[in-house]
Amino acid sequence: MSLETFYFDGQTSQRHTACLEVRQGKLFFRGPEGECEYALDAVQISEPQGAAPRTLRLPDGGTCEVAQGEALTALLGELGHRESLTVRMQKRWGWSLLALVLVAFTMFSGYHWGLPRFAEATAPMLPADSLASLSKAALRQMEKKGDLLPSQLSYGRKQKLSSEFMQMVSLDPELAYYGTNLSLLFYRAPSIGPNAFAFPGGQIVLLDELVDFAGSDEEVLAVLAHELGHASRRHGARQLIQTSILSAFAAAYFGDVSQIAAIVTTVVLNASYSRNMEREADDYAARILIRQNKSPLHLANALERLERSFRKRNGQKDEEDESGSWLDSHPGTRERIAYLRSIPLPATLEKVPPLEEEAEEDEEEDYGEAE
Ligand SMILES: [Zn+2]
Repeated sequence: MSLETFYFDGQTSQRHTACLEVRQGKLFFRGPEGECEYALDAVQISEPQGAAPRTLRLPDGGTCEVAQGEALTALLGELGHRESLTVRMQKRWGWSLLALVLVAFTMFSGYHWGLPRFAEATAPMLPADSLASLSKAALRQMEKKGDLLPSQLSYGRKQKLSSEFMQMVSLDPELAYYGTNLSLLFYRAPSIGPNAFAFPGGQIVLLDELVDFAGSDEEVLAVLAHELGHASRRHGARQLIQTSILSAFAAAYFGDVSQIAAIVTTVVLNASYSRNMEREADDYAARILIRQNKSPLHLANALERLERSFRKRNGQKDEEDESGSWLDSHPGTRERIAYLRSIPLPATLEKVPPLEEEAEEDEEEDYGEAE
């Protein structure tokens, strides 16, 4: 049986009509230049792509396009062609489903394990100066928007906190990476609330609201020790890498590149760390505080104070629904407080009593007023 086909000679884009036929164990081709014969196994056959015509590549470089249909199926049968394993698998539901599950698993594990590992490995390679300029730009933007206002703390208070902060810094050689960019910056930010945050470039920002809110300077310093943990472990840079890669992927996939620049600023402003990173920073804070003969319970108390205030403002809502303060960027507060209280402390350490049970009474009063 002879089959009509379109033939391209591989030299020009000119299309010719030609005929293909299998006879006596050979493929006969009749085209514009006459008839040729080829060995059956010398012909390369393209994979099926939906309803598109299949391509038969002849040994001399010419190609024949054959529309799909019974005639083509018959010719392929005569050629002794067997579809590739991939094509056969594509036609089976089970295999397709398995492939889908594998792709989903690869993407999930890439996102969940691969990406954080990659970010952890590459963060130390980022030049500290670039991170510092990026962070300075973000800080300037926050100042310009009016989110960060000049601090109203007294000079003496700032001096005292700064000098104790620098004492903690001097205990960790890892922090030398940031050079002089590692500094304590004081701001007032009524729109943000009691908060402190570590920028990827090493700048640690402390808000007046947190200083006023804390029960003591020990609590403020414990929070700063936690922020130093984020700096020491390069959590900011790691978040930045992860988010940039994700948005680069999204941009490549959805074709929108304009978002990448904006995302860098967003990451810096809304750094929300993973539970693992919080645990690392808490561990770090506990170690550095104990080395200074201070108790990590100050951090537990600061956390509890923030959480109580949050609950008071929002009624007895879900604990996970924390927002508006330091807790917003620091998930799993209850778990963290319990963990900090469970750390074994040296007997010589100062004794820090837990917060008094005043929250309940206050709430009752609040409810009373509301009625
Ligand atoms: Zn944190």
